[in-house]
Amino acid sequence: TPLTSIRMFAEMLRDGRQTDPVRRQRYLDLMVAESGRLTRLVNNVLDFSQLEQGRKRYTMRETDLVGLCRGVLEAERPRLELAGFAVTFSPAVEPAPVFADEDALRQVLGNLLSNAEKYSTDRRDIVVEAGMAGGRAFFRVLDRGIGIAPEHATRIFREFYRVDDTLTTRVKGTGLGLSIARRIVRDHGGELSYEPREGGGSAFGAAFPSAAERAKPQRRRRGEDTA
Ligand code: ADP
Repeated sequence: TPLTSIRMFAEMLRDGRQTDPVRRQRYLDLMVAESGRLTRLVNNVLDFSQLEQGRKRYTMRETDLVGLCRGVLEAERPRLELAGFAVTFSPAVEPAPVFADEDALRQVLGNLLSNAEKYSTDRRDIVVEAGMAGGRAFFRVLDRGIGIAPEHATRIFREFYRVDDTLTTRVKGTGLGLSIARRIVRDHGGELSYEPREGGGSAFGAAFPSAAERAKPQRRRRGEDTA
């Protein structure tokens, strides 16, 4: 588990056996990366139990989806680049206003990025797109990984579902990341979907009603009240 690695690197640093500054820095980088993984793991388990019991509470406010994606990506970039990925952020228009719980959407994007990382082998290339399309705010995560066979593509969003092949089973996972991500996106009135990426790999996209669209029914309701 990530905790095991964090503890191991912390102990090595504490014991002072490693004196090479480059190595010491690398241990620290790995500890930071592994803490990120641990946070995601814990958050997913907490989210899962809260969502299961209908206890998850969202703090919704108007936010810019493009800025949110940029923030997440800049935080994840060092770890991904350390793992040999080329990471591209490709914002279309800005801002892309949505009503959202920012932490929850960060968790969604974090889970998708983590999968892009886990299920990539030799072609290590991740692109994140964000913007507005057809009146909806969206983000997409594209990788050049192992992809998902059509017979599995609809099942991967189920709880505890993992594609049963040698490549997937080599990678650690709980089978919860995508089911939680989809639940969160749907709780925001949006949809999370998968499609094969042209040229190989996967493309996961989340699309949400824009904040303007969300505001419309409220205005109408207020109008009805006074009528
Ligand atoms: P986990 O990654 O913990 O197994 P997820 O719910 O995040 O759980 O994903 C479910 C399954 O979908 C994974 O086990 C994997 O088989 C497949 N999968 C998810 N994302 C990708 C991806 N980017 N590329 C290839 N396969 C993926």
